[in-house]
Amino acid sequence: MRLCFASNNIHKLNEIRPLLPPGLQLLSLSDIGCHEELPETQDTLAGNARQKAEYVRQHYGVACFADDTGLEVTALNGEPGVYSARYAGPQRRAEDNVAKLLRELAGAADRTARFRTVVALASADGSMREFAGEVVGHIAATARGTGGFGYDPVFVPTEGDGRTFAEMSSAEKNNISHRARAVAGLTFHLMRNEE
Ligand code: IMP
Repeated sequence: MRLCFASNNIHKLNEIRPLLPPGLQLLSLSDIGCHEELPETQDTLAGNARQKAEYVRQHYGVACFADDTGLEVTALNGEPGVYSARYAGPQRRAEDNVAKLLRELAGAADRTARFRTVVALASADGSMREFAGEVVGHIAATARGTGGFGYDPVFVPTEGDGRTFAEMSSAEKNNISHRARAVAGLTFHLMRNEE
């Protein structure tokens, strides 16, 4: 079973690999010779995930899944949401995004937030399926930890022990994370259908 994951984000690939069915050959975009930027022009997480997976299936002829994640902050009316990657500008730098988030939340009484991930699977038979996952938590006062990526240094999951995702091992994050929950749905589907 060969399946492309529409990403070259090494952090995501490392998180996802242990969650997939045994025997599945996971291919990155580089592995299939895709070095272009994938289109991601929709205004929903599901729309972007579907768009990326469909693009790879159509242009590279391989079954593919893609994910799209958003951080939704209550005091910011759900922002940055689907625009999380470009929150502080088109340079898409995690440090800039985190700094902007902490500035926007300075003095906020409510720091609750959630991560939401949608995974879209474009199968070889032409079908498209979606799997969603989320985790609730709050935004820490300052960045802590060196693991993970993106907003991990400021996200404290409610189900944890007060540490940020960046202070956890990859396995600890995978026990409760938005992405792991979405990928669990994907794995269940793949094992049932032997894609
Ligand atoms: P995308 O799904 O790769 O487009 O991610 C959107 C934004 O959310 C980017 O800024 C990512 O760095 C960030 N992000 C995605 N997944 C995670 C995560 O698991 N932890 C922290 N930040 C994340």
